Formats: sequence, C-alpha cells, structure tokens
Amino acid sequence: MDLIIRGGTLVTADSVMEADILIEDGQIAGLYKPGSPVDSSVPVLEAAGLHVIPGAIDVHVHFREPGLEQKEDFLSGSGAAAVGGITTVCDMPNTLPPIATADLLRTKVDKLQGRSYVDYGLYGVILPDNLEQVDAMLNAGAVALKIFAGPTTGNLGAPSWGALVDVFQAVAKRGGIIALHAEDRETVEYWEQRVKGEGGSTYEDLLASRPAFSEASAIAQATLLSAQTGCRLHVVHLNTKEGVDLIGFAKQQGAPVTTETCPPYLLLTAADYGRIGNRMKVLPYIRHQADQERLWGGLLDGTIDMLSTDHAPHLPEEKARDIWSAPAGAPGVETLLPLMLDQVNKGRLTLSELVRMTSLRPAQAYGLYPRKGAVRMGSDGDFTLVDLKKRYTLRAEEMLSKARQNPFDGVTVTGMPVATVVRGQVVAREGKIVGQPRGEWLRPPEFCA
Ligand SMILES: [Zn+2]
Repeated sequence: MDLIIRGGTLVTADSVMEADILIEDGQIAGLYKPGSPVDSSVPVLEAAGLHVIPGAIDVHVHFREPGLEQKEDFLSGSGAAAVGGITTVCDMPNTLPPIATADLLRTKVDKLQGRSYVDYGLYGVILPDNLEQVDAMLNAGAVALKIFAGPTTGNLGAPSWGALVDVFQAVAKRGGIIALHAEDRETVEYWEQRVKGEGGSTYEDLLASRPAFSEASAIAQATLLSAQTGCRLHVVHLNTKEGVDLIGFAKQQGAPVTTETCPPYLLLTAADYGRIGNRMKVLPYIRHQADQERLWGGLLDGTIDMLSTDHAPHLPEEKARDIWSAPAGAPGVETLLPLMLDQVNKGRLTLSELVRMTSLRPAQAYGLYPRKGAVRMGSDGDFTLVDLKKRYTLRAEEMLSKARQNPFDGVTVTGMPVATVVRGQVVAREGKIVGQPRGEWLRPPEFCA
C-alpha cells in the first residue's frame, strides 16, 4: 500500500525531526521536509500536531488460537493490538493443542491466513517429550521457542534442568531463541501446597506461594546455561528486583540474554489488590514497591531491553473465582501505549526511550530488524500516530479484546495512539478498526529455507 504521513513529528529511538514519510508498496520510500510537493495520487494521512513513532512490537501475546477462542481469537486480539498502536506481535504456543510440533505450527500458519490486522511471529513450545521437534519447529519458522519452567495456563511441563543443557545446545547450534517463563517448578509446587494447606487467602499469601527466589533461581540457572552454550535467551515478564540484578550480571558476563517487563509490574503493586482484585492477578504475581523501583531502574538503564504486554485474556466468570482458582492473566495490547505515553507526559521516560523499548530493541532481539524496528529505506512502513495531549479514560467495555477484566479499567491517561499504519495500510483510527486483516506471518530470515 502507498501512503504519505504528512506534517507530523517523527520520533525514533535516537532522533526527533519534522518529516513527511512516504510509503510505497508497504515499505518506507522516503523522508521529506514538511510541505514538500507530493504525488497527488498517493493517499495522505494527516499528522499535524501529532508524533509519529515506529509501530510497537509486542513479542509476548496470547491470542489463544487454536482451542481457546472463547477467551480471544486472532481477529479480536490483533484488532485490539492495532487500535492500541501495536503493529507486530509474537504469539505464544500454550494453546489447545500446544504448538509442540512443526506440523502444528504449519497448521496454525494456514489457519491464520487473512485473520490478523497486524504482522505476527509464532512461537513453538519445548515440552519434556518433544526435543526431537526443536530443529523442525525452527525450520518451520518458529520465531522463538518457549519454555514454561513454572506452572501456568495450560500447565505445560518443561524438560528438567539437566535436559535443558541439550535443548540450549540444540537451539544455539541453529541460532534460535529460547523464551523462558522463569519460575522454579519445584519451589512453586512446594510453596503453593504449603500456603494453601495453612489456609492462606490473602494477596500476600498468593505471593508467598510463588516466592521471589523461584524466579531468581530459574533466571540464574538459565542465564548460566545461556552463557555456557551461547544460546540466545529471552526472559519473559521480569517482575522481581532479584531478577533485574541477575540479568544485569549475565549481561556483564557477555551472555546473549534479553528481557522484558510489562506495564502492570511498573504501575501496580500488591497494595492495589484490595481495589483491583483478580483483574490484577497476572503471572508472575505483581510484587512490592522495591521491585517496581528496581524494574524502572533496569528499564531506563537498558538492563531490561523492552516492554511487552503478556496479553493473556480470560473470561469474566473465570476471573470472578476466588483468589486461588481465578486464572492468572490480563489483557494488555490496548493499554500498553496509553499507559506508557502517560508516563512520558509525567516525565518518567522520553518518547525516544519508549520507542527503543517498544520497537527498536524487540525487533533486534527477535531477528526482525531491520525489516521491523527501523526507519530506513526498504523497512516496513509500520507507524503509530500518537496524540500526546489527548486525555482519555480507559474503559474495558469499549475495548476490542474479548477479555473484559482490565486492571486499568477507569484509569485516565494523557497521551493516546490515534492511528496505526501496518505496511502502509491505515488499520486503526481513534480506537476503531478501519482496515483489512492483511497481517503477514513473519519468519526470522536466518531460518528461511
Ligand atoms: Zn505469557
């Protein structure tokens, strides 16, 4: 698609400039001084008074296909992402069935044709009994392979730490990426049983059932394995101060490690549970002020590479259960940019830093750069127009995700995404879908046959 984005302020991870952006056949074809004469046959998207940022890349969503479409499906999830200013997602494999073979991955690719408003990569999963599928899933185009080291939605098992030496070696040989849900299963199983057995029923009891050292010990073991094998490791949804320190240490040692955190960990603490209830029950659980401060520090100094959403929808009736039985997870793709633009307005970070965390670093870490995450000739024309002055109250009932239990329902922010462009197509404007589901499946180039 051809498009001119005219009159906006273009903000990248390292620059701010006034520029008109020409997109031809979906790719960036030129940056021009504002007001330069243009070919009148090319459609124009007016951006006067707005900031134009590279489209956000969210490497951690659960759009629940196949098998859990009552919670979300790719049309609803990707539509929600588009109105939230996200132009690329990577979709997790803990579905029914889990994406644990190359055949299942190919079936999912076929099924998603024409059913996404944004571009997407797809994960495979490593289970205790599918090690022979590692090569095949990478050959089939898995963007990364997920390991659920701790129990979560779907309750998938993981190989033992011993067996993971083989897994890390196999993935390293192929230049693939392991994405790790870092919790220690034995620790969680012991403490859940113990805390429940003692009649625990408060949010602090919930936290005690998954102690912080569970995340820390899983990160310590996995980053050592990454350093030893050279395997690229991405630790998902970092949420403890100990985790930030361990990732920082691994990076100092030169281990090829990246990590992400999510807005709920940056904006909520255990003290909010009384007000928000199970809507803020996400995994790992949101902890305390000291963790939050350390996460902000790590995000700003680059120890934490990127922001993701861990968009994990569940049904309202499921979230209405008691604190133990309510499933963990919350929607996030429609609130990531509004919440973080609000933080930009509050002076917590700059818009360029936000672009680094939501576009540049995810693209680099996931092998999508420079097709994604770059503003240069030939890169995909993915942009989000943001109105930094727009005040808006987030309302779960207005959102496109099927999940109606949003922890930020009713929060008023300043700063909203107002238009989303995927490869030159305007797919969303002012909270509504206006384009077609022409999202493309992305295969990391080094795996292409
Ligand atoms: Zn997740």
